[in-house]
Amino acid sequence: MPRPVVRLGSMGGGRKEMVYVGTPVSRGIVFGPVHVVARGFSAPEVYPIANVTRETERFGDALRRTRRQLEGLREHMESLSGNEEGRIFEAHMLVLEDPIVLTGVPKAIEERRQNAEYCFYAVMQNQLESMRRIPDPFLRDRTTDIDDVCQRVLRNFDTEHEQNTPEEPDHQHILVAYDLSPSATAAMDRRQVLGFATEQGSITSHTAILARSLGIPAVVGLRNAVFNLHALDPCILDGYEGKLISNPTPETVSKYRELEEEHQQRRAELDKLRDLGAVTTDERTITLSANIEFEHELDLVDRSGAEGVGLFRTEFFLLESEECPDEEEQAALYSRVAERVAPSEVIFRTLDAGGDKVPGEPLSEPEPNPFLGWRGIRFSLDRQDLFKEQLRAILRAGAAGRVGLMFPLISGVGEVRQAKSLLAECMEELSARGVEFTRDIAVGAMIEVPSAAMVAADIAAEVDFLSIGTNDLVQYTVAVDRVNPRVAKLYRSAHPGIIRLIKTVIDGASQHRIWTGVCGEMAGDLTLLPLLVGLGVDELSVGAPLVPLVKQAVRLLDSGECAELARQCLQAGETKQILQLCSEVATTVYPELIKEESGGASAPSFAAHPS
Ligand code: PEP
Ligand code: MG
Repeated sequence: MPRPVVRLGSMGGGRKEMVYVGTPVSRGIVFGPVHVVARGFSAPEVYPIANVTRETERFGDALRRTRRQLEGLREHMESLSGNEEGRIFEAHMLVLEDPIVLTGVPKAIEERRQNAEYCFYAVMQNQLESMRRIPDPFLRDRTTDIDDVCQRVLRNFDTEHEQNTPEEPDHQHILVAYDLSPSATAAMDRRQVLGFATEQGSITSHTAILARSLGIPAVVGLRNAVFNLHALDPCILDGYEGKLISNPTPETVSKYRELEEEHQQRRAELDKLRDLGAVTTDERTITLSANIEFEHELDLVDRSGAEGVGLFRTEFFLLESEECPDEEEQAALYSRVAERVAPSEVIFRTLDAGGDKVPGEPLSEPEPNPFLGWRGIRFSLDRQDLFKEQLRAILRAGAAGRVGLMFPLISGVGEVRQAKSLLAECMEELSARGVEFTRDIAVGAMIEVPSAAMVAADIAAEVDFLSIGTNDLVQYTVAVDRVNPRVAKLYRSAHPGIIRLIKTVIDGASQHRIWTGVCGEMAGDLTLLPLLVGLGVDELSVGAPLVPLVKQAVRLLDSGECAELARQCLQAGETKQILQLCSEVATTVYPELIKEESGGASAPSFAAHPS
């Protein structure tokens, strides 16, 4: 079907400008028509109709086609595995017999005088939203079935395609979705998706982290956008202030065009710092490196002026295949990365699937509390076959460039010792095989569990460096799910408990003369940067697009003043006192950068700061 051409400026089709406000998670301003994906299905286009009877018949045809397919699926499942599985599709068929569908939709067509697929979508969305508010978990679970049926019916309006996958738009668009998984984000076609906005999500969810790493402007936590927006509505996505503006007026469009230009100019200024170091005004050097998830991000790392890769989240491979790649495949990839980053270092973080990240064989069993479950080093120590393959692959990459490795989700020194002993076994195995590898590899522990932070000195005695994963450290210390928008305001990186824990970690590392880095999102928070420098952090690792901003900020700071700030913050009893102290320093030393970070809003955008 030919698609209408939408141009900004001529936009709106008479509809009023609407501003949806959420949380900005990845900077940038983009303009374009929206593609709306409700929980799993896209909003159809909406248009007025004259012939109600014809539209009602189209609806009837779509229902009939859906029933036929469901019946076929039921028979197929029954022939494979008996009655039980077939019942799923019986339940789906019952949805189609519901009076809300059979009478509600024709009534909506008659009253709204809009196309049948849109009326069906609107009626079902309304119904689903009411069901989701019901506290009964059984009913809430049923919404997944209904979602599924709705998708099928919507696809069946298109008689040419009796296909099973929803259609991706073939034009550039802003994606608005109820939620996006990290894998969907990673798989996005960057030529078509200009930016995205979701109703769910938070700053430290891996979807948001990926958006920042990949440089895709993004906003999360937008309320009601999915339901209220229409497919192809012209929009502006503002990833600085966290806004999605639908049907913008010509004045709004020109205001945003100007803003976009200003940002681009400032970015061009920052890019000139590429070859300079992250050195404070009193000559303290901070190693500033980049976090990556995919090999293709190395282009961005190159351009950013980062000193190597401080965190390679290796689990994101799993997105690309059904099973863990074997030692050979991993060794090839790690070697390419090490070679490309040389002479700087790349630190591979061993597998940390679980939590909100990639599911995949053999990690796919659902867990009641995934963030407290079988993830990180726990998984690796239980699945030593997979762990050792990965360790050997990393050691082999050491022959191609400078590599380090670190273990995620360490909760105590025993896990580190066990992991190191497996590493030693891997060295012997490679040596016996006569394969080229390095023994000269820095081994680190991630500190992201409060118990590990408390015994950091003991862990430091076993390793070459500590890297603080603040995303998890905050989640576990203040007991706030990092991906749940409902409790997002309680996620406090500047909580006194966190600041004191970070100090304990740095002290533990200094006792053993090893370095401490921060690789969680807090490392890129310009408001808290003076505090991290003052606490004595040696390394910061941030998404590549953030590197120039952080570098410029470090270059404007005085480490003595930062140390005084840290002293005051360590005595503060409340988050807001710490934030105030940090804000005073940050907005005095680099007001322009704070403005750039937040797109002109007064509150910093990239840290979860409580109101
Ligand atoms: C962290 O927890 O801060 C971290 C860097 O690891 P991830 O975000 O991948 O859990
Ligand atoms: Mg983590």
